[in-house]
Amino acid sequence: MKKAVFFDIDDTLYDTSGFAKLARKAALNVMIDAGLPLETEDAYKLLREIIKEKGSNYDKHFNVLTKRVFGEEKPLLIALGMITYHNVKFALLRLFPETMSTLIYLKGKRYHLGVISNGITIKQWEKLIRLGLNHFFDQVVTSQEAGVAKPDEKIFQLALERMGCKAEKSIMVGNKFSEDILGAVNVGMSVILVNSKLTEAEERYIEKEGIKLDIVSDISEVKEIL
Ligand SMILES: [Mg+2]
Repeated sequence: MKKAVFFDIDDTLYDTSGFAKLARKAALNVMIDAGLPLETEDAYKLLREIIKEKGSNYDKHFNVLTKRVFGEEKPLLIALGMITYHNVKFALLRLFPETMSTLIYLKGKRYHLGVISNGITIKQWEKLIRLGLNHFFDQVVTSQEAGVAKPDEKIFQLALERMGCKAEKSIMVGNKFSEDILGAVNVGMSVILVNSKLTEAEERYIEKEGIKLDIVSDISEVKEIL
């Protein structure tokens, strides 16, 4: 019977933490050099507020920022900010050192590989392609396609259905207990938590529910389990 391993993308296959902040600050500094009348920290605070308000997948944060500061949009500053943000972000986009070797190992073990990711489909594909991982995965399922996000069971069921394999033959690898792990457990998949620390409440929950969970600090340790 077909066996499969599904991965989360962000902070599971590659390191996202910190890079968005660096890219945003670099963008703001370029905008400040070009006439945005704020200090970096104040500009960053304002940008954070706008991102919180509009959501991180909204694509006009810099438009809103210039409008708030000047009372109107400033196209040159917006373009400078966007280009710098994207350039820095892509320059910092790096796999965890052992991601590639782990995927190759799993392929060698005849696992089918998939992705289950909360996010915008094109953006998540863009990351996989830029990271050089797109050919590894037989199925990539996003919350945008599924219409629901992890931990909703439906996104896991959709991924299993597309892969043509059963939950009990499948493993979910992710860094968020509340999204990746809980959802997968609820549909009957095995689970591996990476790059993450459990809260006390989560530990109590695991014990109470008798959840069987492997915890590894590095994706390469998945090789020792599978
Ligand atoms: Mg993640």
